Amino acid sequence: MQTRNITIIGAGIVGIATASYLRRDGHAVTVVDQRPPGEYCSFGNAGILSPGSCVPISMPGILGQVPGYLLDPLGPLALRWSYLPKAVPWLLRFVAAAERKRVERIADGLRALLSQTFEAYAPLVKNAGVEDLIHRSGYIAVYSDSKAYEADALGWKLRRDRGVVIDELDAEELRRRVPQLKGDFRMGLFLHDHGWCANPERLTKSLAAQFERDGGRILQRSVLGIDVGPDGPRALRTDAGDLPVETLVICAGSHSNEFSAALGDAVPLEAERGYHVTFSDPRFELPMPLMVPEHKCFVTPMEMGLRIAGQSEFAGIDAAPDYRRADRLATLMQRMFPGISRVDATQWMGRRPSMPDSTPVIGRATRYANTYYAFGHGHVGLCGGAPTGRLMADLIGGRPSQIDLAPYRPDRF
Ligand SMILES: Cc1cc2nc3c(=O)[nH]c(=O)nc-3n(C[C@H](O)[C@H](O)[C@H](O)COP(=O)(O)OP(=O)(O)OC[C@H]3O[C@@H](n4cnc5c(N)ncnc54)[C@H](O)[C@@H]3O)c2cc1C
Repeated sequence: MQTRNITIIGAGIVGIATASYLRRDGHAVTVVDQRPPGEYCSFGNAGILSPGSCVPISMPGILGQVPGYLLDPLGPLALRWSYLPKAVPWLLRFVAAAERKRVERIADGLRALLSQTFEAYAPLVKNAGVEDLIHRSGYIAVYSDSKAYEADALGWKLRRDRGVVIDELDAEELRRRVPQLKGDFRMGLFLHDHGWCANPERLTKSLAAQFERDGGRILQRSVLGIDVGPDGPRALRTDAGDLPVETLVICAGSHSNEFSAALGDAVPLEAERGYHVTFSDPRFELPMPLMVPEHKCFVTPMEMGLRIAGQSEFAGIDAAPDYRRADRLATLMQRMFPGISRVDATQWMGRRPSMPDSTPVIGRATRYANTYYAFGHGHVGLCGGAPTGRLMADLIGGRPSQIDLAPYRPDRF
């Protein structure tokens, strides 16, 4: 294989996993990021590794559900009204993606990518010596009753139809498996072959450090623009001068469309903001993560405490965090685990890079042969990081792809 000089914008999990796979192929790889690795969206996610997470966010019936969510001031979905005019084009595409046949196709694309989650992380975490971060013991979705579960029936069918193995747990079995859980939960679903990462920030930083030990280069610079010649990008304009580029990969998370638009690909990408609260001293150990579909959040046993993460807020990429949303998550946690101490709890807001069809962009720029995209992983960027990195290495290296890349094309809208 011919090796190349490759520059990647973005040191989140997607950029670092891509850099790691490209470096393994012998390319000269430079990652440019204004922050240290793993300090933007990849810092504070719920850590869920979910090969079966093939259910898009926009599902049939979404239009009927949204008003209810929006009228609840602290519900799982929020839209700042001043931001509505800017969000409308994305929201219209989001609603259009809920069409039943399209949902099936989206689920196929997500499942093809995410079924590789554990397998694609394995060589990276082994090389970096952080296999301890990855747990593969499954997790449980908890419901207050069977009516709430039936409301999500299509989502569970999409998973089962694509080979995800799920056991139903009655109230007694749920209590046996998770005795710490209180509150109003009467049934559960155990997802086999799922798992979690006990510290997403440490994962990204460890892979980044290993990438550097293996001869990769990370530059801490802000990319201000791209100098484009007739054959594509020639240099990055950065706050520390120009940086010549030969092959460029854009992995800039929720900022990626600023670059793709300058290269002729106006991709609909939205910063879908989410929050977490990490209870640093819960005084009990949860055996595995819990998904709480009725509140659209996860509770995950992290090495730094018990974390609850969720919420979807559309307010624009630069708006100040609204930590009442984190408070709502904390209140739910206190209902699930009465008596849990909030002393030293930390809160965080992150920007998911979200596409209206919940499917990332993975592929070559439409105009330029030397430019590639890997962004837009929305709710599943941690799961999708390593599989995406491996696909990018195949694509750039000219190897046949292990899966059909058509669902992820940048020009699909
Ligand atoms: C509350 C919450 C919970 C979540 N839970 C999960 C989960 O359980 N499982 C899961 O799979 N996913 C989860 N996610 C989603 C996941 O965190 C993201 O999809 C993922 O982190 C995106 O990674 P990324 O590398 O694309 O982007 P980022 O981590 O955002 O990285 C992008 C990088 O690009 C850099 N950058 C941007 N612009 C520039 C510029 N101009 N110059 C230089 N650098 C630039 C940024 O500094 C940043 O470091 C969650 C997200 C949230 C908010």
